[in-house]
Amino acid sequence: MCPPSPPPLIGVLAMQGDFEAHLRVLERLGAEARTVRSPEDLEGLDGLIIPGGESTTMTLGIERDGLAQPLRDLVRAGTPVLGTCAGLIMLDRSHLGLLDVEAERNAFGRQVKSFEADLDVPALGGSVHGVFIRAPWVAVHGEGVEVLAEVDGHPVAVREGEILAVAFHPELEGETRLHEWLLDRATGRRRGQASDTKNGGQRE
Ligand code: GLN
Repeated sequence: MCPPSPPPLIGVLAMQGDFEAHLRVLERLGAEARTVRSPEDLEGLDGLIIPGGESTTMTLGIERDGLAQPLRDLVRAGTPVLGTCAGLIMLDRSHLGLLDVEAERNAFGRQVKSFEADLDVPALGGSVHGVFIRAPWVAVHGEGVEVLAEVDGHPVAVREGEILAVAFHPELEGETRLHEWLLDRATGRRRGQASDTKNGGQRE
């Protein structure tokens, strides 16, 4: 009999922003969570979260700590990623260049335009509760990007391959569907890698 597999290991970029709320959600869902502050922290991750915060500060931190290229390598190798709010901005064409979208910062206006909404996201199994805080929206996206939800006709949840990015904060009000998506993908990836290793690391 196979021993039970360990839970997936999810890294949460912890330069700045509300990474602690994500750590709590992951722990509640039974995942192993690790804060990411240096390239070494990316070693062995099954999934990654880029949280909300301030994208300008996060960009500086990523550059300062030499994380830009290691993050790109991790994601391009197929590691599943969840980006929320500033995390969506960090993934776009003008920042890490991992998601084929152009995000517009503070698109709903500044503080006055912070709001909560229940979004219908069939791809994630139903209604998703989002807290929008100085949120971006997706202004432009490439053909390979699937729009999962919109507000006022603007995409606020998108997916491209193993990247799921949303303009809001799911982690603040007990919403867990997005984290569950990430854990599912991360678990699948871990199993795939384990069986690749068993087969001598050969892929088709
Ligand atoms: N307005 C922030 C930015 O542009 C994002 C806000 C958030 O992550 N809640 O970086």
